[in-house]
Amino acid sequence: MQSLNSLRTYALTCRNCSLCETRTNVVFGSGNPSADLMFVGEAPGAQEDLTGQPFVGRSGRLLTSLIEGIGLTRDQVYISNVVKCRPPANRDPDPSEVEACAPIIASQIEHISPRVLVTLGNFATKLLLETKVGITKLRGSPVAYRGGVLIPVLHPAAVARRGAAGLVEARSDFEAIRVALLGNISVVQP
Ligand code: SF4
Repeated sequence: MQSLNSLRTYALTCRNCSLCETRTNVVFGSGNPSADLMFVGEAPGAQEDLTGQPFVGRSGRLLTSLIEGIGLTRDQVYISNVVKCRPPANRDPDPSEVEACAPIIASQIEHISPRVLVTLGNFATKLLLETKVGITKLRGSPVAYRGGVLIPVLHPAAVARRGAAGLVEARSDFEAIRVALLGNISVVQP
């Protein structure tokens, strides 16, 4: 298995799908490569495309505050996306793009091997759990995953759209993450 740095170098010049034609930067991921906690979102947005960093816009600020709310900093966790290049006009990545990019996120997860993997929103949850069940049913419930635990939570953009109720739900989901990191959890099999 190539190193995480080699994988990053590979991704930064990847042209395996048409998103390479419209991206400004490849957004590989950032944070602690030995993190116990890893987040996986959907795809970069406009700010992420401009900076090459994941979750740096409005959703990113909300994600940061939720991480800090359970006593951690962004430097202590690892953050990435299923797809590394921004889909034009923030459309959903199409199946061929997801398929082309899937080996990169799979390899990232293998390298970082977090104790707790958190999927942010429907897209990442359905892909990694290979399920058609929606995020509103799955959110906050730990699932056994590759020797660790996967917890689906609402995407920060969805939290923001739902206002105060979304924040209550998000804080409840992040409490499940905090408890999972302490090891005090029971998981369901996927
Ligand atoms: S989205 Fe993924 S597969 Fe497509 S060009 Fe970017 S890094 Fe390569």
